[in-house]
Amino acid sequence: MSKIKDNQIYIYNSLKGEKEKFVPVSKNHVGIYVCGPTVYSNVHLGNCRTFLSFDMVVRYFKFLGYKVRYVRNITDAGHLENDAEVGEDKIAKKARLEQLEPMEIVQRYTVDFHNVMNSFNALPPSIEPTATGHLIEQIEMIQESLAKGLAYESNGSVYFDVKKYMEEGGDYGALSGRDVDELMSGSRDLEGQEEKKNPTDFALWKKASPAHIMRWNSPWSVGFPGWHLECSVMGTKYLGKQFDIHGGGMDLKFPHHECEIAQGKAANNVDPVNYWMHGNMLTLNGKRMSKSTGNTLLPEELFSGKNTLLEKAFSTTVVRFFMLQAHYRSVLDFSSEALTASEKGFKKLMTAFDILEKVDYKPTSLNKEENVLIKDLCAACYAEMNDDFNTPKTIAKLFDMVAKINTYNEKQSFGQLEESTFKLLKETFCGMISDVFGLVADNSGSNDTLDKSIQLLIDMRANAKKERNFALSDEIRDKLIAIGVQLKDGKEGTTYSVE
Ligand code: AMP
Ligand code: ZN
Repeated sequence: MSKIKDNQIYIYNSLKGEKEKFVPVSKNHVGIYVCGPTVYSNVHLGNCRTFLSFDMVVRYFKFLGYKVRYVRNITDAGHLENDAEVGEDKIAKKARLEQLEPMEIVQRYTVDFHNVMNSFNALPPSIEPTATGHLIEQIEMIQESLAKGLAYESNGSVYFDVKKYMEEGGDYGALSGRDVDELMSGSRDLEGQEEKKNPTDFALWKKASPAHIMRWNSPWSVGFPGWHLECSVMGTKYLGKQFDIHGGGMDLKFPHHECEIAQGKAANNVDPVNYWMHGNMLTLNGKRMSKSTGNTLLPEELFSGKNTLLEKAFSTTVVRFFMLQAHYRSVLDFSSEALTASEKGFKKLMTAFDILEKVDYKPTSLNKEENVLIKDLCAACYAEMNDDFNTPKTIAKLFDMVAKINTYNEKQSFGQLEESTFKLLKETFCGMISDVFGLVADNSGSNDTLDKSIQLLIDMRANAKKERNFALSDEIRDKLIAIGVQLKDGKEGTTYSVE
């Protein structure tokens, strides 16, 4: 049965700065567009956080019974260094450094991105369009803006005319809270500004310099599309001129999403998106995880434990759980200690999950109080999720359920619940964990015999060290490495990871 009717979702709309009742354009359907990666390097855990937040959003809509069209693009051209208006294309630069074709770079990092997302058990989008696959549509959208007088050509490039847009009722700056007058009075001395009427104007099409190798024909010049245009074009093409939800990380609010709103409105005379959702940043040592500053952690480092920041390796599902323990709009700081705490919590959750999956329910005499309590806890889980996808509060309710499940299990008293309540408990608890949060049993430590055998060798190595028999302790370590078992000595003893 569809749960849509019973669950009114409220979404924090970044454009309005408040939570709003979610009313889809088309009943029981959701159209959602999420800005995908620029595929010029391996995705870091920060990128993963944003994509996993929206994976949870999509999963919850599906869980309630909505038909979801989920579009997440691949940026394979037009995104310049430092998110700027001039400079080298990020992909072309990497291709130059590695002496490869730009499309070899695109292919390599698209594959990496898919592998990482799969390892996190993220659902694939319904459509994954690329910028280079939509050049004709991008040129058409530029022509529409030109025809309306909201864009102008200058020296083979085409710019969006922000001043004109404002004069015609546009509200550039509304999403990011930037003051347009201040932006307009920005420096004109910066490179590339001389072609523009105003420093705020942004490129829809750029004429390629001789060195710019990613280039295509257009009515204005041999060049390439502006970075913001692809998302406007692909969002509109697959979800309509006005669609339900647009997501991305906070850092994309300006200029990327601000420009998307202006482009959409200019081309189609309507606000392109009804609900703007922005995920907050994953930080490392209190600073935003970012490729450009080198303050990053790669997923593979986490799973292998091969990073000095880590005491040991962690599984993808534990990392996913760790991220869900924070609200998607809160900053989340990464640390090995926090992950270790999440791992403990995760194990408790999954033990209760197992119990519930296996328990053989047989009704006994009804305990009204417990029956109501369980029903209330289930309702509370939905209520928290309906409140702007509040995963940390939902998880707190799931832990209240864990305490109940453990007690009922010890006393073999599941039968005191009505059968319908037991079913509701199972559906809510297991459904939230596996369908909505995408968590799966962590098998990395489940091979008990293997675990005990390696532990035995770790203990023997510790004894050898104590007896100053370093030849033996080194031999144990090296032979384990040779068969793919990496030992890691930490404050709390030795841990291991299996490759
Ligand atoms: P990019 O490939 O740089 O366009 O980034 C892909 C997505 O990752 C965008 O939605 C960014 O907002 C997001 N992102 C980048 N850094 C972080 C971070 N430290 N925490 C969370 N999301 C991030
Ligand atoms: Zn985008």
